[in-house]
Amino acid sequence: MRKGKLIISIGILAVITLLLLTSSFIKIDVEQGNAQKGKISIDRIENNRAIALKGEWEFYWNQLVDPSEFNQIEEETMDYLTVPQLWKGQTYRGSSLGETGAATYRFFLTIDNSSIEDNQGIAIKMPFVYSAYKLWLNGELVSTNGEIGLNKAEEIVQRRPEVIRIFPRSGTNELVLQITNHHFYRGGISKSILLGNLEYLSSTREKQIALDIFMAGSFFISGIFFLLLYFMRKDENIILYFTCICFIFLSRTLLTNEIYLAQVLKDFNWEIGNRMEAGFSYIGISVVLLFLGDLYKNYFTVKYTKAWKIFIIIMLPLIIFLPHKAYDSVIIYVNAIQTIYAIYLFIALIKNFDRSLPDFYVLLTGKIIVFILAIHDIIITYLVIDVTYKVQIGMYIYVISLGYVLILYLYREFEKVEKLVVENDKMFQELCEMNEDLEKLVEKRTEELEDTNRRLYELSMQDGLTGIPNRLQLDDKLEYYWQYAAEKGLRLSILFFDIDFFKNYNDNYGHIKADEALQQIASFLYRRVKKDRDAFIARYGGEEFVVLYLDKDMQETYEIAEELRVLVKEMKIPHEFSLIADIITISVGAISTMADTKNKATDVLNEADQALYKAKQGGRDRTYMEGN
Ligand code: GH3
Ligand code: MG
Ligand code: MG
Repeated sequence: MRKGKLIISIGILAVITLLLLTSSFIKIDVEQGNAQKGKISIDRIENNRAIALKGEWEFYWNQLVDPSEFNQIEEETMDYLTVPQLWKGQTYRGSSLGETGAATYRFFLTIDNSSIEDNQGIAIKMPFVYSAYKLWLNGELVSTNGEIGLNKAEEIVQRRPEVIRIFPRSGTNELVLQITNHHFYRGGISKSILLGNLEYLSSTREKQIALDIFMAGSFFISGIFFLLLYFMRKDENIILYFTCICFIFLSRTLLTNEIYLAQVLKDFNWEIGNRMEAGFSYIGISVVLLFLGDLYKNYFTVKYTKAWKIFIIIMLPLIIFLPHKAYDSVIIYVNAIQTIYAIYLFIALIKNFDRSLPDFYVLLTGKIIVFILAIHDIIITYLVIDVTYKVQIGMYIYVISLGYVLILYLYREFEKVEKLVVENDKMFQELCEMNEDLEKLVEKRTEELEDTNRRLYELSMQDGLTGIPNRLQLDDKLEYYWQYAAEKGLRLSILFFDIDFFKNYNDNYGHIKADEALQQIASFLYRRVKKDRDAFIARYGGEEFVVLYLDKDMQETYEIAEELRVLVKEMKIPHEFSLIADIITISVGAISTMADTKNKATDVLNEADQALYKAKQGGRDRTYMEGN
């Protein structure tokens, strides 16, 4: 991936975060009120600005006082408490408060008549109150969350953020708030109660809900898509992990901020909700770890990842089964361990990661964003700072970055396969070409070999000196002629030639000259014999030649023998040392006989040789004929 694309990706993540964080989408503009001794005076309620009802409120500890009962309450039981504030550690009439108990708050709100008339409606936005409350305005009950009770059994906890329309009168209004907490580690009011224009407060809440549903919807869609992908690729665990991440964060989104689930299910029990939220956080984080561990096996120390998994496994039943208050007091340590592990992963990532992978920067951006926002939320939770939670946005961005690296991984896998396929194709093609070449080569070599063989055969069948067929070929041909003639009932004629006094020629003219004479006579006879059908001539050896004829009777054979003998004589090759002439002469032994399979051809050849001998004996330069 090119650097530009990477910068764009990280940029997009950062821009989405900034947009979500800073847009007016979820921001409530708040003016800080300042109640003194239980009294606050509002000059003006703006259309696009809420007022935080902060400051000193009348506070009655361990008493649930109804608005009508205040005249019976002894003044010494009252103290002032700064709101918003959790109870734990606050001083009430000199003693320190614990986290559980019941309390009544009261304060007087003075609103100018013009403010009431200028606004189409006025509303109160209740924050998270631990764990159940009742709110009255001028003696009239306007809002409840859960059921307050003096002990754990009576109390039903609920966490349903609300915008409540109120009808204050001009002048002084009395607000009474009863809160009980027997379930949670924390009791009291976590954030300011907001007073403002009905439409403004409702719309900010609706926007927050819209954002939550938008995020939940994105998680849902990507969860579904990756689930489908997982069904197709069941061997890829990381796809399943990511699917789980999507659905867990989807569920968690509906349990935070405006708690959309509590809107849909009106009696949604927050004890269960709280456990679910916590449970999902754990499972969510552990699945993220499984995902990262699986995707980048080499970067994290196995020991720590294992320890974390064991921790998750131990914590899981605690989250599900621990009594709420106990769990709530444990959660702070669990949060701390989670944070430590997150820091470890963060450091390991920075230290070990292969920087050439774009994953590094994408993950880093996601991590930094979620980390900062998580720290932000932890700080505002424990310091009760009046700011909206942000980690949800961070998680959203983080899940996007996880999805991003998953896609990068799948893309790389895809690319690997693609490369292999291309390589495979190439190899196959090369193999085919090689095969083709090989076939051609073999064909060529075979042809050459056949040529050579033919050549060798021809050479083996030819006489080296004269170039005419040799003895070897004669043997073949003789056998063949003999068989053929026997089959067809034909005669075979054999003429045996021998040059007269050739030794003398050799001795006197020299070998070279003698060889030349041999060549001359051989080629001359050859050309002549070739002219006849079914005729064959070969050099028998030395200065002897054998001629075969088919289908010639004795007379004809004799005539041919004589013709050849005379022809040689007519060549007039001088031979001073012949004892019978002054040119080269030849003697011929001839035989013509009916071929038959009972006799052997070689016997007939011998007979021809005998005839030659007789021709020599008879004085040379003649033909001696035998036959029957
Ligand atoms: P004849 O046949 O008339 O009885 O007498 P000749 O002298 O020809 O006797 P023979 O046939 O026994 O001798 C053959 C001689 O031919 C022997 C050798 O000197 C000569 N000769 C045989 N083959 C070759 C050859 O290839 N080259 C040469 N230069 N001379 C050969
Ligand atoms: Mg001889
Ligand atoms: Mg001779």
